[in-house]
Amino acid sequence: MSILPEPRGARARQTYYWQVRNARHQDLRAVHACETWHIRYGHPGGAYSDLGHDTVPPSHHSPTLLTRRMYGRPGDEYRGGCLSCLWEGRPHTGGGSNRALNCAVEDAHDHAFPGWRDLPVVPDLKSSGSPYGSQRLWRQTADLYPADWLDRGAPRLVRARRRGDAHDPPSLSSPRYELRVASPRRQERADTGDQEVLF
Ligand SMILES: [Zn+2]
Repeated sequence: MSILPEPRGARARQTYYWQVRNARHQDLRAVHACETWHIRYGHPGGAYSDLGHDTVPPSHHSPTLLTRRMYGRPGDEYRGGCLSCLWEGRPHTGGGSNRALNCAVEDAHDHAFPGWRDLPVVPDLKSSGSPYGSQRLWRQTADLYPADWLDRGAPRLVRARRRGDAHDPPSLSSPRYELRVASPRRQERADTGDQEVLF
C-alpha cells in the first residue's frame, strides 16, 4: 500500500488531516492523523474539513497556525501558514511553553503583514473596565494602521499580561489576532520612545 504524500499549504493540509482522521482513502489508513500538519483548532481555517470546506481562498495573505505531534517527541510542533497561498513557515518546537506557538504565529504575520512589529501597542482591551473606552481607544489606534490592513485582518498588538502569554487567535468578537508584546525595559523606553498608545 502506498501512502498518499502530504500536500503543501494550510488549507490543503487541513483537508488531508481530516481525510486521514476519517480514513477516507485506503491509502491513508496507515497514517497517524496527529502526525500530519494541520491547522490548530481555534485558529483561522481550523474547522472540520473532510471534503474541503471554504473552497474559495481569501484574496489576500491570511495568517494561521499549523501544528502536529510526532510520536516519541515531546510537545507539539508549530509552523505558520497562510489561507491564501502555499506559504509555510519553518517548524518550531519548544516543549510545554508558548514560545514555539508564538514564533510560528509571528512568522505567519511576517508573511501576511510585513512590518507589523512597528504597529502601535494598546493596553489589554479585555481587561479594560470600560467597553466604551476600549472601543474609543481601538478606533484611535486603528487610524494609525496602513491603508486596508484592518480589512485584511491585521493584528492588534497588546502588552503581555505575564511572561509567556500565548497570542490569541481571532474570535467572534474580534476578526484579528491579538499578539502579546513584552513590555520594553525602562531604559529602552527612554532611549527609543515607547510606541504604546496612551489616551
Ligand atoms: Zn500567503
